[in-house]
Amino acid sequence: MVKETVRVYARVKPLGRRQQAGIYSVDDDEKPLSSLEITVPRDLADGFINNKRESYRFKFQKIFDQEAKQDVVFDSIARPVAECVLAGYNGTIFAYGQTGSGKTFTITGGAERYSDRGIIPRTLSYIFDQLQKDSSKVYTTHVSYLEIYNECGYDLLDPRHEASRLEDLPKVTIMEDSDQNIHLKNLSLQQATNEEEALNLLFLGDTNRMIAETPMNQASTRSHCIFTIHISSKEPGSATIRRSKLHLVDLAGSERVAKTGVGGHLLTEAKYINLSLHYLEQVIIALAEKNRSHIPYRNSMMTSVLRDSLGGNCMTTMIATLSIDKRNIDESISTCRFAQRVALIKNEAVLNEEIDPRLMIVQLQKEIQELKDELALVTGKQRTSELSQEELLQLDELIETFLKDNDPDSPLDVGADMRKIKYCFIHMKELMNHSKISDKKLQSQHISEEKDTNKEAGEEELKKLKELLWQRDNEINILVNMLKKEKKKAQDALFQLKAASAGSIERDCSETVNLEESQSPSSCFILKEAKDFNSSLHRLPFLSRETGGRMSLGCQEAFEVFKQEHADSITIEDNKQLLKQRFAEAKYLGEKLNEVRNKINHLKGEITQRHIQRAALAVSSPSEELNMLDPVEEKLRKQIEEEKKSYKTMFNRLRGLKVEIEHLQLLMEKVKMKLRKDFEVWWSEEAINLQEKPEMVISPNTTTVYPQFIKSSQHLSTNSFSETTRISPDEDPAGKNNSTSSSNPTLKTRTPPSSSTSVPLTGDSQADADILAFIKARQNILQKKGLGNK
Ligand code: ADP
Ligand code: MG
Repeated sequence: MVKETVRVYARVKPLGRRQQAGIYSVDDDEKPLSSLEITVPRDLADGFINNKRESYRFKFQKIFDQEAKQDVVFDSIARPVAECVLAGYNGTIFAYGQTGSGKTFTITGGAERYSDRGIIPRTLSYIFDQLQKDSSKVYTTHVSYLEIYNECGYDLLDPRHEASRLEDLPKVTIMEDSDQNIHLKNLSLQQATNEEEALNLLFLGDTNRMIAETPMNQASTRSHCIFTIHISSKEPGSATIRRSKLHLVDLAGSERVAKTGVGGHLLTEAKYINLSLHYLEQVIIALAEKNRSHIPYRNSMMTSVLRDSLGGNCMTTMIATLSIDKRNIDESISTCRFAQRVALIKNEAVLNEEIDPRLMIVQLQKEIQELKDELALVTGKQRTSELSQEELLQLDELIETFLKDNDPDSPLDVGADMRKIKYCFIHMKELMNHSKISDKKLQSQHISEEKDTNKEAGEEELKKLKELLWQRDNEINILVNMLKKEKKKAQDALFQLKAASAGSIERDCSETVNLEESQSPSSCFILKEAKDFNSSLHRLPFLSRETGGRMSLGCQEAFEVFKQEHADSITIEDNKQLLKQRFAEAKYLGEKLNEVRNKINHLKGEITQRHIQRAALAVSSPSEELNMLDPVEEKLRKQIEEEKKSYKTMFNRLRGLKVEIEHLQLLMEKVKMKLRKDFEVWWSEEAINLQEKPEMVISPNTTTVYPQFIKSSQHLSTNSFSETTRISPDEDPAGKNNSTSSSNPTLKTRTPPSSSTSVPLTGDSQADADILAFIKARQNILQKKGLGNK
């Protein structure tokens, strides 16, 4: 068992040009902790923050300042946790901070550069590297990816889904068993046998996360994402399995609504925007308090899921992400305060070991056989599960004599054999039932006879029969008592036998029960079905759904222009170049490797040649010299060693390149996907706007562009809308006649005057949108070519 407090780190996001000096300082001298001092500028301190203190000091395990790189962050924070997880302990790393402070960047990574990959891909790489090196155990790895939005859980790894909304993904629900262990129903656990498969799953999840997000539901800032790596290991032949899991958590933005009421309020009174973070804070406070018996985990889904990772059996690490500039000073201080409370929690991590039930069954079967053998030795008879025909006949005879015997003390002795005792009972029951039926028959017979025969004679007969019946009843009662006695005797005998020879079986049985009980806490996630993963990245559910898989011509042309103008096209281009370089490098390395391999083969050939020559010499003219070490051969061997070394270095480099190339390819897919999504949003908004304003007839001179379009397409490079000017309704008298509400300033794009053909709309919204986009795209292209005015 490892007992330790939660480790808390801070990471400050680079602020670039906006950076103001003197707001914070980092002091690394106070080993083993570092401290962060945040100074509130005077103008702010006098204003809305309104408390007396002007500087705050917070202690962290380590503080990563603005220039800290992803590999350093991984090495310090995630590697130790990953090591623990490989050793069989559970681990959790969660990033906490306001939106935009770098949580996703730290946990998943940036989408542009390979070196920007975050904790998840690096941890996967590290874990699979380690697993490959350890051949002493058999490992299995699964991953799951859960998003919690508005108290609902969604499975981001569902391979079948065609969803474009989060709500279309399978809903994950929480179930609690009688031991208060949490199980997640509908969360798939996907097997990943190597780094590549695991990375593909991560990208699938990230893509689903991205597709599900629309400008309306800002899921990424309001939702929590939990990527979990499940590892189980077993030594070959052993029945003990170790299971561990590593949660990598990207929490929702921690920003609060500041109460700026009368006289101002202290920072702590501000309220969370996200209620579940408020519950997380309550859990943290409860955990940090000594002697608290009730921890309010159940208040939210996220605290329920992380229950055993926050205050239980887990190595927990928190990264407080900070974006410390003047505007965010109160949020940064809130984040640090939260971190200080988290640092007070003590956790106890224990190894999660359990016994494989299959191997347990084999062991128990063996034990049963041994006990049977022992029993056979004691009784002198071989026990089978069924009585033989001969034994059955013997028993029937015994019962018959027993029943016939009028002596109430006569015993029915079948020996200490449960099978025989059971048989006797069954047989007696049959006899009893039989006699009841015949009694009834007798009775009815008697009634009919009564009618015909003389009453007196009948009465006498009845008396006789009653006596007989009474006698029979008596007999049966005695018999049952006897049987009871016999049964008890037999049980006692069996018990003694067991106590003497099978004391161990009871111990083992109770262990089995315990083991069965203890299995459930570690396998928290119900394995829906560990299916092989089929990469399904190349899907475009939105486009294929709405247009039946085809883009109309206008749409295609508009997309081409959109693509050229999109900011991400630079990233795509950059990555393409980089990929080209990497491919070239890989090709070069491949060729080099071949050369070196040939060289090594050649050198080996030379050595063999040398051997043959020397052997021939030894036969023709034997000399002392030939028995000594051959300096030429030594030299050749050294050369081979050298070549092998360089082969290994190049091989490793090539392997690294392969991973990088795959990562880059996935990054490109992701950026392309984003581009298509952005285009789809823009396209559908255009269509909606046109539907709302059907009277609008396109005049290429003035095209109305709506504010929400500008908002949702902020990433578009400015030159595609370089002519966009903001015109307030007062400045533009025409704007008043416009159907758009006058309180909502309309943005207009002024395009150069050109052939002013007006295109009447067809009334079919899809067709209209296509026509308009087509014209717009053409205008853009013409403009680019300098033909717009002609
Ligand atoms: P959050 O997930 O906390 O809302 P993000 O991780 O999305 O924030 O970060 C916001 C932006 O800042 C992203 O564009 C990201 O690439 C960038 N960013 C964050 N942290 C860093 C960093 N340490 N270095 C470089 N860029 C960063
Ligand atoms: Mg984020």
